[in-house]
Amino acid sequence: MSRLALGSLTVSPLQAALPEKEAAEVIAYAFSCGINFIDTAQYYSNYGLIRRALKLTSDPEGIVISTKTYAYSKNLAEEAVEEARRELDRDVIDIFLLHEQESYETMKGHAEAYEYLLECREKGIIRAVGASTHHVSLVKGLIRLKNEGIPVDICHPLYNMKGFGIADGGEKEMAEALSELHSMGTGIFGMKALAGGHLSISPEEALGFVLEKPFIDAVAVGMQSREEIDANVRFFRNGRFSKTDRKKLQNKKRVLHIEDFCIGCGACVRRCASGALRLTETDEINPAAYGDFTSDFTLPVSSVGDGKVYRAEADDGKCVRCGYCTRVCPVFALKIY
Ligand code: SF4
Ligand code: SF4
Repeated sequence: MSRLALGSLTVSPLQAALPEKEAAEVIAYAFSCGINFIDTAQYYSNYGLIRRALKLTSDPEGIVISTKTYAYSKNLAEEAVEEARRELDRDVIDIFLLHEQESYETMKGHAEAYEYLLECREKGIIRAVGASTHHVSLVKGLIRLKNEGIPVDICHPLYNMKGFGIADGGEKEMAEALSELHSMGTGIFGMKALAGGHLSISPEEALGFVLEKPFIDAVAVGMQSREEIDANVRFFRNGRFSKTDRKKLQNKKRVLHIEDFCIGCGACVRRCASGALRLTETDEINPAAYGDFTSDFTLPVSSVGDGKVYRAEADDGKCVRCGYCTRVCPVFALKIY
């Protein structure tokens, strides 16, 4: 597998929302450049794009696909596995993870789903199982599970040089836990090495920091264009970005934008694992913005219950631009540009 994994969220509906043909061509281009590892998720709604990209590829079977699900029950896990096999047009899924797990306890809460993934692994329908996370506690939880004899083949943690986005600790705590888990035989592929753009100002230092860690087997990097793929492939081959590549990366800071017509329902606040969103009181009410939604959605006054009007506000320092919150907004007020 290539150490550089293609993070597929960036071209998908939750982020750039490229037209399907264009997105599939970008993915296929990455495969043609030697990236043979792609990260996706049931939540990303992009299996169709990947299937289309695989059809454009000379060796589709040589591409390693990692996906993940929020399933907590056996039925939901079964649906997730069958959806992936059907939509990706694959009999065997290489890596299937539980998505955004937080601790030993959340893994226990998802035990039925995990057991189903392990059954599929026994049958050869899945090759490797594990979990993705923003939490040090989960990595420690995976160590505990392994000590109990439960297989954990792969961990997909958020990890970067400044610890941006790690929900319950810093870089050092995460590194210690990952190092121990890796020494027990679990493969580790990181995410958010550039912290959603916060570390793009020094991309060589940020990526180099992660890649030199002996416990990091691969790193998923979100890429939206052929240019970005070329730049990253060059970096992973020779450890350097050209001046032009570096400048483009530095200028490409994405931000989470919250539209004025946010109705303060709080769904995004509950969804954000990084604690980057909160509701703040506002005096501004634009009745026209609410008009279309009053019959279908709860007004902000009742979402908080104190008679005041709220809007979502983001703490840019905490937001890792994953785009997960955009999917839960009932009025499509959240966008990543
Ligand atoms: S994009 Fe949304 S969900 Fe992701 S870290 Fe930022 S505020 Fe949170
Ligand atoms: S989910 Fe949308 S409407 Fe609700 S608080 Fe967040 S941005 Fe506002």
